[in-house]
Amino acid sequence: MEVQIQDNLLKILDNIKKIEQKNNRKEGSVKLCAVSKFHPAESVIEALKGGQTLFGENRVQEACSKFEYINQVVEDKKLAKPNLHIIGVLQSNKVKKAVEIANCIQSVDRIELLLEIEKRCTVIDKNIDVFLELHTAEDSKAGFADETSLIKACEEAALLKFPHIRISGLMTMAPFTEDLSAIIKSFSTLRKLKERLNIDFPNLPITELSMGMSGDYESAIAEGSTMVRIGTAIFGNR
Ligand SMILES: *Cc1c(COP(=O)(O)O)cnc(C)c1O
Repeated sequence: MEVQIQDNLLKILDNIKKIEQKNNRKEGSVKLCAVSKFHPAESVIEALKGGQTLFGENRVQEACSKFEYINQVVEDKKLAKPNLHIIGVLQSNKVKKAVEIANCIQSVDRIELLLEIEKRCTVIDKNIDVFLELHTAEDSKAGFADETSLIKACEEAALLKFPHIRISGLMTMAPFTEDLSAIIKSFSTLRKLKERLNIDFPNLPITELSMGMSGDYESAIAEGSTMVRIGTAIFGNR
């Protein structure tokens, strides 16, 4: 089991490298976020020992109990510190805990959440990275419902209303379907939106495109992904 996680990591990293080459992407331009939801702290520690430092968790409660322990182990064993991203739907009453534990919240889907994150970061004097999530697939409910509402959030941010927040990326989930063209459409929608935002909001540091999971990361990288979020292919079934 332990060896398998590190083996899987190497395989995925090698795959990513090959897909980068195939699509004329610069080597190392796609980061790997290892999604450890539902998997035990021991699995995360194995991945850390294998050199993986970027992790994604869906639920704040689970992330807290797991990563408070992991951070302790990391300190004791002098391993590299994990970089934790929250990738699941976030309720306002979980923001306090989320900003304490995470380096980035990828699943921001409303302006009220930005306000709450700003408020909680001000209290603990912390700056945080945030990705705005766009809803691009029928079978998920997550994300800003449309581009217009996401752009509104960028307008607010561009007015410097959230000084503790860096809006550094966009995120989406493609539909779960065999229809490759629908998957590609979801990813290209996000890429085009990023290109537009980079022009319209030059003072927002939107550089990351978080898209691609175990089943569709090749298409995501072909469409410009800079961060793939992979769970099953690293840690096994949940
Ligand atoms: C679970 C999850 C992933 C990883 O999915 P896999 O198919 O296991 O690779 C990626 N992104 C989000 C938002 C998730 O909830």
